[in-house]
Amino acid sequence: MKSDYKTDYSCPFCLSYLLLENKLILTARHVSSDEPNESFLLLMNPEIGHYDTVYHPSVKVHEGDKYDFFCPVCHHKLHSDLNDNLVMVQYHDKNGKLFELHFSRVAGQKSTYKIMGRSVETFGIDAPHYLDFINLVNMS
Ligand SMILES: [Zn+2]
Repeated sequence: MKSDYKTDYSCPFCLSYLLLENKLILTARHVSSDEPNESFLLLMNPEIGHYDTVYHPSVKVHEGDKYDFFCPVCHHKLHSDLNDNLVMVQYHDKNGKLFELHFSRVAGQKSTYKIMGRSVETFGIDAPHYLDFINLVNMS
């Protein structure tokens, strides 16, 4: 199934597309909670390096706290093999190339890594924070 969007996001597990109405849609839950009903939908700016989010006003997101992220379709936990503080989704660029997009699961932390093979492009002012953990060639 090919995406008709210029760029897109998909779940690495079920391959469902996660971009709708120009928002990356994920499910999130505070790391201290095991209650599925304490999860919430999180809409993220899909432009890499932009960190504005939208969530229901009943949800309180605490800066500096860690959150678990899940695919809203298959509910698989989204995790990064590179670092425990990162989450990974698949990013499809406008040329149809597939990247791993790793970003921080700490609220308010601006660090994103766009990775293909052994090359990484970094985004966000907090990106250097995790670079030491990522044994890849920085192409930024
Ligand atoms: Zn999925």
